[in-house]
Amino acid sequence: LTSHTIILANLFEIPTVIRAGSLSNIKNGDEILVNGSTGEFFVNPEEAVSAAFKENMAVLIAHKKALRSFIGKESFSKDGVKVEIACNIGAPEDVAIVKQNDGEAIGLYRSEFLYMNRTKPPTEEEQFSAYAKVLKDMQGKKVIIRTLDVGGDKALDYLQIAAEENPFLGYRAVRYCLDHPEIFKAQLRALLRASIYGQLLIMIPMISGVEEVRKVKAVLLEVEKELQDSSIPFAADIKFGIMIEVPAAAIISDVLAKEVDFFSIGTNDLIQYTIAVDRMNSSVAPLYSPYHPAVLRLIDQVITNAHAAGIWCGMCGAAAGEISLVPLWLGMGLDEFSVTPSNVLEVRALITELDAKYWKENVEKILASVSTAEVIEKLKELKAKDVRARDNN
Ligand code: PEP
Ligand code: MG
Repeated sequence: LTSHTIILANLFEIPTVIRAGSLSNIKNGDEILVNGSTGEFFVNPEEAVSAAFKENMAVLIAHKKALRSFIGKESFSKDGVKVEIACNIGAPEDVAIVKQNDGEAIGLYRSEFLYMNRTKPPTEEEQFSAYAKVLKDMQGKKVIIRTLDVGGDKALDYLQIAAEENPFLGYRAVRYCLDHPEIFKAQLRALLRASIYGQLLIMIPMISGVEEVRKVKAVLLEVEKELQDSSIPFAADIKFGIMIEVPAAAIISDVLAKEVDFFSIGTNDLIQYTIAVDRMNSSVAPLYSPYHPAVLRLIDQVITNAHAAGIWCGMCGAAAGEISLVPLWLGMGLDEFSVTPSNVLEVRALITELDAKYWKENVEKILASVSTAEVIEKLKELKAKDVRARDNN
């Protein structure tokens, strides 16, 4: 569910079913109903199935319409705690979808999409145009651009990364970039040059230790110096952050927090590495869960360490928009939720109903759960109580 195909399908709101098995008995011209929410599809459905499906669709459309009343509102909990609901995008054109859904910022621009479907890396100029467009179109709102996150399920033939036994544990993202300064520096130059068009924040993926952060900062300083020497302008005080998506980084997040301006938790990878479950392998998919107590404890630790060091902490993995977990993230003090654009209003609507203080008081109780099932059960119980408290007021 966190593969890049699904990330894109979510972005464009394309109903999608995966792991469907053999489809060889479907013929051209067959009628197919696809329910992306439940993961079901019906081939040449009977009238009753079709009617029920249409009824459900009408309910869904009405719900989406009702959510539009949250457009233009800020995201405050019932007791006045403000959070930011930002969006994840993969291309400059996606800003239009962010605007339609009233996203407050870009919390993650996956720059690697710019490097895909081509035979050589994008030039500095091409990158500059793409980044400048996003920054201009966001009109001064925060835009976090993540540097190239290649490898894992995002292999690019022209980068000639040798076949690996364990690509997700291999030559990925910042590891590759630090070894290929010509590629990394071209991206950083393009980012810095574009920075004058808006509010740019730079984010580095797959950080596993403090040495990598310091090496990246050194490369960034070099690029800044080169631009200064050529009198090429860039914004002063560009915020610099890292993704927390490797358990090692979560565990030493107290150390890393002293090195950077912000964190963004990448739950898609953090879950796979913490539970040792390949996010692309359907045989182990049932083990992959954002509700695992180990994952939740790590996330709580990251947010606490960020705040202790005086920096803010966001989340840009799919768990940021997982509706049953939003109350917990609010209770933990997450500052920014970066979600797929179609989730913005749903998350905002939910936040406005929640009592942040109540959820903060219950974080420890949830973290004391011994199993994923217990976490899910407790979240349900606590949510019902929060709703009852509201109804009694
Ligand atoms: C993540 O790992 O949670 C994340 C946002 O990055 P990606 O899904 O692109 O690996
Ligand atoms: Mg990731």
